[in-house]
Amino acid sequence: MHTVLFFRQPPPPPRPIVRPDDFTMPQKVLKSAHYIELGSYQYWPVLVPRGIRLYTYDQIPGFLKENPYITDGYRAYLPSRLCIKSIFVLSNETVNIWSHLLGFFLFFSLEVYDMTAVLPAAGASREDYVIYSIGLFCFQVCMLCSVGYHLFCCHRSEKTSRRWAALDYAGISTGILGCYVPGVFYAFYCNNYWRQVYLVTVLAMILAVFFAQIHPQFLTQQWHRLRSAIFCSLAAYGLVPTIHWVWLNGGFSTAMVQAFFPRVLVMYFIAALAFLFYISKVPERYFPGQLNYLGASHQVWHILVVLMFYWWHQSAIYIMHYRHSEPCPNYMLQA
Ligand SMILES: [Zn+2]
Repeated sequence: MHTVLFFRQPPPPPRPIVRPDDFTMPQKVLKSAHYIELGSYQYWPVLVPRGIRLYTYDQIPGFLKENPYITDGYRAYLPSRLCIKSIFVLSNETVNIWSHLLGFFLFFSLEVYDMTAVLPAAGASREDYVIYSIGLFCFQVCMLCSVGYHLFCCHRSEKTSRRWAALDYAGISTGILGCYVPGVFYAFYCNNYWRQVYLVTVLAMILAVFFAQIHPQFLTQQWHRLRSAIFCSLAAYGLVPTIHWVWLNGGFSTAMVQAFFPRVLVMYFIAALAFLFYISKVPERYFPGQLNYLGASHQVWHILVVLMFYWWHQSAIYIMHYRHSEPCPNYMLQA
């Protein structure tokens, strides 16, 4: 009888373990001890003034349970201030945060480099400057939204965590827009009509996705597949202007198509590979608990997204040089 009662009792909440030097800390700081468990586990005394405990999959709140193959290393129940400080704590989000933070710096540096060196050397027009600024700005927004989500997903408030998740998705749409803008602009450089048609349709689709995100069901588990389908169609729509562009250029024999089409294919290959990792949770699915900190699918997805954006940016520079050096063919102007 006693045994049954014992098992039916919920376990007591974890009690903060107060380190001896905590007694010397000001009272104001001690108040935050309600929300975190202080302890020696994963304690980084130099970088974080107060340790942030890591939790196992079973201990985290439901809204953080997305990947059962990542069994440990979760930050949870943190106030905003400690979410920010946790950037220096080794957790299962460390690689996710830093990969896109470095990605942000990469695209920021590329923007500075483009504006000060690449575009002036290429004799770029004002339009070129605008297009590259938009493209790289979108990539930077995408990176920062992702950093924000991975930093604040462990917030003690579910509402705050979900808001950041929504922003992460909005960031992905913005990143996709950043691919479309220079792609469509340079592919249809010689045909203003189709350039406008595709830019407007892409913009309309991105806006539609933004509005879909406001739907209360958008972030729920039930909409998991629909969410993936929405982002896949947003990316796959790019095949429509690509095929149209090949057709307008008279097929695969044209020099322009031969130069640029393989680059589009590589971009889609990286995107498909990234999405495959994202959706399949491979490789941690086969090594549950062994890739908690390094080597998990989401980390591969992050790195491939940076690689894809970088590849596409370099391709846009390539096609811009081509367009500046070669006159517009008549068949494109009249199409
Ligand atoms: Zn992410």
